[in-house]
Amino acid sequence: MQFSDLNLIKPISRALQDKNYTKPTPIQEKAIPVALSNKDILGIAQTGTGKTAAFSIPIIQKLYKQRCAFDKVAQIKALIVTPTRELAIQIDENISAYAKYTRIKNTVIFGGVKQNPQVEILKKGVHILVATPGRLLDLQNQGFIDLNQINTFVLDEADRMLDMGFIHDIRKLIKLLPTEKQTLFFSATMPPKIAELSAKILRKPTKIEVTPTSTAAETVQQYIYYTNKKSKNDLLLHILDNKEMQQVLLFSRTKHGADKIVKRLKSKKIAALAIHGNKSQNQRQKALGDFKAGKIRILVATDIAARGIDIDKLKFVINYDIPNEAETYVHRIGRSGRAGESGTAISIAEPEENAYVKDIEKLIKKRLIVEKDNPFPQTDKPMTAQEKKEFNKEKQRKKQEFFANRKKKLLAKNRRK
Ligand code: AMP
Repeated sequence: MQFSDLNLIKPISRALQDKNYTKPTPIQEKAIPVALSNKDILGIAQTGTGKTAAFSIPIIQKLYKQRCAFDKVAQIKALIVTPTRELAIQIDENISAYAKYTRIKNTVIFGGVKQNPQVEILKKGVHILVATPGRLLDLQNQGFIDLNQINTFVLDEADRMLDMGFIHDIRKLIKLLPTEKQTLFFSATMPPKIAELSAKILRKPTKIEVTPTSTAAETVQQYIYYTNKKSKNDLLLHILDNKEMQQVLLFSRTKHGADKIVKRLKSKKIAALAIHGNKSQNQRQKALGDFKAGKIRILVATDIAARGIDIDKLKFVINYDIPNEAETYVHRIGRSGRAGESGTAISIAEPEENAYVKDIEKLIKKRLIVEKDNPFPQTDKPMTAQEKKEFNKEKQRKKQEFFANRKKKLLAKNRRK
């Protein structure tokens, strides 16, 4: 199927040509006609499947046909709620691209930044609003947002809303929306609370399901290096000798680990920035912007921070450590090879992580390719249970010693004052 088979209006077709999209992805093929016919949708799909265009294109097309662009002051007719700021910004950017020949106005609001610039745009009027739940309720409460004219409501990444503790906000929000409307509900998984919520708010929905998590891994070439803990950094530098790898998303389990990796890379003159929960919204946006623009080669991210990050045509993902949950691995590598593009994922395992690699191979039902060009192969054996116990005990002892010393120093300093 081609986009031309979907009866799209010319301004949208032109915008899609500008983006070089020719074929709709499976979710677009299924969801666009249903959404255009005003039916509710229960979409089971994750980021990377092309779901943003699947819900945005019908919204733009319907608003265009209602001649909304000619309203004196634009009113909010479509509301898209998504859990993270990064996702909200990306959705808004996509809508701007698809609607660029329609004169339909859109904007995005999210927390963690000053509200005034957002309020100013809202006052001028928009047709499509993309929002994270907290800021949306806050501005609505202050009287800056009128939800009464909404005729399309999109709830995006519903299961993450639950994970991130937004479910009460969503329930509150739903009560504020008009009852007569179309609802498009998207979630990657269907835990009971989400199934319950969807049953409550959807009316005779069409269920559309694409690419379960474990098959997202099919388009990505997956390599593994087995090495020792102390060689990981040298091995990373060896991997990065490959000059083809000009844009790499690198995952680190911890925020502290991410900062350490960035420091080491910078000391070797490799441009890198970290993106994680301890960074401000501005720092995170800048890091992501610089990465997308090719100003930095490596973006080091933790799993939470990387949620929803969408980098067009990202080819390389490196796992500096192996996640202990196989599903997390699939989410990580799914950042590359999106919408059918090819991608490469390279994972680095130290002996303690060998068992996690086995779990991953079981989930994705294939073996990772063991990279032979490895100057630092694994020689250490994984610790036995007893060794691990002793190792952890020693780590705990050192930690306590460190804090006791720090306390002593602080007390001495206070006494001197
Ligand atoms: P999404 O799941 O909406 O986050 O989309 C994932 C990625 O696929 C984004 O980078 C989109 O720009 C891209 N994309 C969406 N639809 C298409 C399409 N029909 N052809 C090519 N790329 C697409």
